[in-house]
Amino acid sequence: MLYNQILVRFGDLTLKGKNQKEFLKRLYTLMAEKMEGLAVDIVNTYDRIYIHLNDTPVEVVEQRLQYVSGISSYSLVVECDNDLNVVKTTALELMKDIATKDITFKVETKRANKNYPLTSLEITKQVAGFVLANHSMLHVDVHNPFVTLHLEFKGNRCYLYNTEVRAMGGYPVGVAGKGLLMLSGGIDSPVAGYLAMKQGIEIECIHFESTPLTSIESAQKVIDLVKKMAKYAPHNKINVHMVPFKELHMALLDFIPESYNITIMRRMMYRIASRLAEQKGCLCIVNGESVGQVASQTLKSMATINAVTNTPILRPLCTYDKVDIISLSKKMDCFDISIKPFEDCCTVYVPKAPATAPRIDKCEIFEKSFDYERLVTEAVEKTNSITISADSDLDLSLLGLEVREVIHDLKNK
Ligand code: ATP
Ligand code: MG
Repeated sequence: MLYNQILVRFGDLTLKGKNQKEFLKRLYTLMAEKMEGLAVDIVNTYDRIYIHLNDTPVEVVEQRLQYVSGISSYSLVVECDNDLNVVKTTALELMKDIATKDITFKVETKRANKNYPLTSLEITKQVAGFVLANHSMLHVDVHNPFVTLHLEFKGNRCYLYNTEVRAMGGYPVGVAGKGLLMLSGGIDSPVAGYLAMKQGIEIECIHFESTPLTSIESAQKVIDLVKKMAKYAPHNKINVHMVPFKELHMALLDFIPESYNITIMRRMMYRIASRLAEQKGCLCIVNGESVGQVASQTLKSMATINAVTNTPILRPLCTYDKVDIISLSKKMDCFDISIKPFEDCCTVYVPKAPATAPRIDKCEIFEKSFDYERLVTEAVEKTNSITISADSDLDLSLLGLEVREVIHDLKNK
């Protein structure tokens, strides 16, 4: 393979001045972190970044690039001297690599150095002519070519490339500040986390765990999902806050009418998440809710649940189709973990007829029937926080969780 570098584009046109500087600094740092251990050099210019491969296999670098948010696209590039003869022979070599059967092509030239002795059009003609004369399988088609060979002249170098690969897009993670992701073991919330990171939000995770009402494996699922998400995070690490939720869960079963159980459970989750968000310097809460999938996700339900907090709640999936969510989940390599059949606190107990239009005033009355403030405070205080890295091998006992028999029959607990 001829390629000796990768040209990385980030062009977000809405960024200006100081923001752009910060964006670039973050992107550079993030890329350097993701390339750790490889012998590549990362070179920053004002509108692009070049990765010099130094003989590192290009597939290895491409694999790592998919975890860098803020990159819009990249191209595999051959860099050579700007001498026209060198450019011609390099172009021919590159086309020989690509064209092993009859294909159409065209050459496009950009020239930053206006002192170069030929115009862009003259360069295009000369290089295309030379390649055509020396490669019998190529035919010119300037309107709809199979391959476009780009030549970019900058300084005394020329950069040749023939593809542009779409990358993750968005902003470098961290540039927008921090958010607290409500992470269950399901399909949706890890994808919501991915989309938040893509938009520049560094995430910490909060998980409400109800062992032994739920199995220890449901907590393990969460850990496994965080490991996958950590590949996109700064330093390949994410902080996770495991909130012991059993006491609240049991109190809800004892004191709250069945139809309001889920609504009030979610109000408790929001209360706890808001407190933790403030403690951890997170500017918003992120979750995997979507409109209208289940009773707790009707717009009326959302409003009633949302009423307990002023912290902004981001729901990145609210306009997504399930098909798109699943394809992102697979791309993140989370899907197989998410579909493992262990219960979490939302699935372990599902009322027969949950309220689809729950009222705030009713919630407030029901909540007066027990000392939820104390339980919320205790849950926050007893929260177990750990940092999980992409390659960590974590023992759940570190979280204060142990394998106990799962209580299945809640009504006879
Ligand atoms: P998911 O696939 O993420 O589990 P879901 O479609 O099953 O989502 P719900 O169970 O109603 O929907 O949960 C909605 C959102 O609430 C989840 O996406 C997640 O952000 C949050 N959530 C639910 N259960 C928990 C939990 N045990 N700990 C933390 N967050 C949770
Ligand atoms: Mg769920």
